[in-house]
Amino acid sequence: MPNMPNMPDMRERYRAVLVGCAIGDILGKPVEGWKKEQIEKHVGRITEPVEPFVLRDGNGKVVRHDEFGKLKYFAADAGMKAGDYTDDTILTLALAEAIAECKGLDLGHIAGKQLAEYVQRLLPDGRSTGGFGYTTIRGFRRLMEGFPPEKSGVVGAPGNAPAMKMSPVGMYMDATGECEKGLQYAGLTGRITHLDPRSVASGVVQAHAIYGLLQDIPRNDFVSSLTSVCRRYEMPLGRSNARSGSGSLSERVEWVAASMDAEAADAHRNLGSSSLVFSSYPFALFMLQKYWDNPVEGLVEVVNFGGDTDTTGAIYGALAGAKNGMVFPESWIRQVSGLERLVSAADRIYELKAGR
Ligand SMILES: [Mg+2]
Repeated sequence: MPNMPNMPDMRERYRAVLVGCAIGDILGKPVEGWKKEQIEKHVGRITEPVEPFVLRDGNGKVVRHDEFGKLKYFAADAGMKAGDYTDDTILTLALAEAIAECKGLDLGHIAGKQLAEYVQRLLPDGRSTGGFGYTTIRGFRRLMEGFPPEKSGVVGAPGNAPAMKMSPVGMYMDATGECEKGLQYAGLTGRITHLDPRSVASGVVQAHAIYGLLQDIPRNDFVSSLTSVCRRYEMPLGRSNARSGSGSLSERVEWVAASMDAEAADAHRNLGSSSLVFSSYPFALFMLQKYWDNPVEGLVEVVNFGGDTDTTGAIYGALAGAKNGMVFPESWIRQVSGLERLVSAADRIYELKAGR
């Protein structure tokens, strides 16, 4: 079938999933953990990739608090540059390369690739660079102790790591048509580190969301598919597998479906954008459908709402890339560290589609 005029070709859209993830991650990284008010006060607005920075007072002392709370400098502390991405893209790329190398889904290979990225960033004192979350690190340590990937996950904070890294599984689903298998592996891949049922469900929803967008799903169907997939894959909250936080992910995603045209500020007030998955993940989904026809404006908005900005940016950027192709400004794309490796991984998954 010939391409429609103005429609990006599919190879470009596969690339844009991974590059969009990196761009969102890069935009959000310097203000990770900051509140919206802190970004406005100290930075004004993030509108392009910037060098990580540290605020200092008149005496040269690092400013670690203001009237809104703590000020964190994860990216500057890690010595990152403007175009460097963090764990969100590192683990997304590891998953994409695992799929490309196996030409399919192999849980052991996925776990091995992800663990290798972590081990490579371990420092002599046991800490790691890259910004890996604590629950992810606990899961990786269990892999290192010899637990198989089906048993390495832990009951930790309900984090958003499964959602942030799962976009390549959606590409696999589009490339091969193996939708059910993809959703099953999205669940298994999330459980390599996270057992909280909301975290696991977020990875499955993200894989399906990428798949739907690559299939040109209309906006209303996209939003209703989120709720049906989330309901289907979110296990009930139990004492044994959910330690903290309130309510289900499904309820928050249903709020998005019922509030599609709400103001972004109202959505943020309701959902928040913290690293808790039931906060940041539905917020990123809300913004994607809200800015359906203005994806780059939406991405800048997402980051400037603060919270877990590198992750909300990465999740939104991958979705926006799947839907729209390489819509990001050329100058942003050029700055992405290791761009060729992202493009190569995307192309190799695309070849699974071309080979069908
Ligand atoms: Mg990160």
